[in-house]
Amino acid sequence: MSSMKRHGPRGRCWREVRVAGRSRGAAHLRGGHRRASRRVAVGALVLVVALATSGCQLARTMVDVGAADPGERVVALTFDDGPDPANTPQLLDVLRRHGVHATFFVLGSQAEQHPGLLDRIVREGHGVANHTWNHKRLTTVSDAVVAAEVGWTHGWLAGRGIQSRCVRPPYGATDARVDRLIRRHAESSYTMLWSVDSRDWERPPVNQIVNNVMSRVHPGAVILFHDGGGDRSRTVAAVDQLIPRLRAAGYDIAPICK
Ligand SMILES: [Zn+2]
Repeated sequence: MSSMKRHGPRGRCWREVRVAGRSRGAAHLRGGHRRASRRVAVGALVLVVALATSGCQLARTMVDVGAADPGERVVALTFDDGPDPANTPQLLDVLRRHGVHATFFVLGSQAEQHPGLLDRIVREGHGVANHTWNHKRLTTVSDAVVAAEVGWTHGWLAGRGIQSRCVRPPYGATDARVDRLIRRHAESSYTMLWSVDSRDWERPPVNQIVNNVMSRVHPGAVILFHDGGGDRSRTVAAVDQLIPRLRAAGYDIAPICK
């Protein structure tokens, strides 16, 4: 298993833990409510829990989010829907200034338009993962469309030498069929949602984004933000404030899906 270890800054590494999707949010997902998928905080199907370097191994088990070891204070920052020529460079500047590595769940259609941004993300040590090609709700489209949405982005990234290990279905909308197709059409990949939603997609004031995270953050948290989909200057400003706040609260910040 040692070859599968993934280490973040300060010697941290991550263990993948599959989480039962039994929350109200997950139920809403099955019902197809448009915005409920953004509420999948506790009901995330897959969560990443950090382990100390010693004994760090990849494992997949069924646990509750709350089962994370409270002693492991490490979180991941994740950014969806980019790369974006206006937002992503600002965000990368902030991350670099703070010495933080994050994970970017990119759209293939965006990455194809802005390959230089993708190169910068990789060059600066961040993780790159698959957020499909065109941001379709995968639970509502055919097997062939799921395969194309997931496989095109996976293949395009692979063509640039990027092994994307995670897929995050748009809107967090997934089910057993979509998970199975993800495993089939994005080789060695698995579904990765989130456990803390910054709710930056509601475009609240910066301090509200900060509070949304700080009030919900927990050891092993995978925190959802967006660097695509319109003006994300508030997200960038919030991340600039959040990094020192998280560190002051004793959290290390490490990328997932690298
Ligand atoms: Zn998205």
